Amino acid sequence: MKPRSLVLLSGGQDSSTVLALASQHTNVVEAMAFMYGQQHSVELEAARKVAAYFSVPLKIVKVTSLEEVATSALLGGDVNEAHPLPQFKDLPASYVPGRNILFFTLGAARMTKIGATQLWTGINATDYSGYPDCRPEFVKAFETTIHRGMEFPEFEIVAPLIDKTKWQTWALAYNISDQVGDFIRNVSHTCYNGDHETKHDWGYGCGECPACWLRAKGWDEFNQWIEALRSVVGGDTYHETIRNGVQDGKAMWLS
Ligand SMILES: [Zn+2]
Repeated sequence: MKPRSLVLLSGGQDSSTVLALASQHTNVVEAMAFMYGQQHSVELEAARKVAAYFSVPLKIVKVTSLEEVATSALLGGDVNEAHPLPQFKDLPASYVPGRNILFFTLGAARMTKIGATQLWTGINATDYSGYPDCRPEFVKAFETTIHRGMEFPEFEIVAPLIDKTKWQTWALAYNISDQVGDFIRNVSHTCYNGDHETKHDWGYGCGECPACWLRAKGWDEFNQWIEALRSVVGGDTYHETIRNGVQDGKAMWLS
């Protein structure tokens, strides 16, 4: 029997891909999104569409306290600059202190009610290196905290993108199917400036903020990888080439 899961969904590329993966491997009981004073509701709109596409109920939780207590560019200010607080000066301005600790705690509490044991998350330690709450040591420590602090020994965090780059995340989506890959490309929202009108090959966004740069760079690298792989294993579509690559042992990390 498949494990029961809760998926944290922001509506971005990473968490949308994680919901796609969780839908394959688990019984997704619910997706959970947070309103925490983001400047743009377009993210939540994307989360709604992604949850609907995968036929998963979406629970939106209001977290007003972060807005009141924390400082981050996602809550106001310039995302292109270093973090405004001196103790976080090596981190980008988009870092929200305590965000994942809070979200994971709310997710774990919810899981006790809906009977889920796996918390799936799109956290990633490669592209935004430096976010302390996106690293494997945080995941391990948080699991232990919930085991002991909630008497919830089955609690487990699944973070399939933690060691993946953005181009590998594209590959994981197209490994499922071309339809899923295209859907995530066109519907998921990453742009810090809330632009979901300007269309690019890699989806919608302003094209000028750090989140758009990473997404565009990942898309370019993914296409370079696909072309190189196609020259060896063939395939008419992204999905076919990836499947051929997996069967040929040239894309083992995807299977
Ligand atoms: Zn942007």
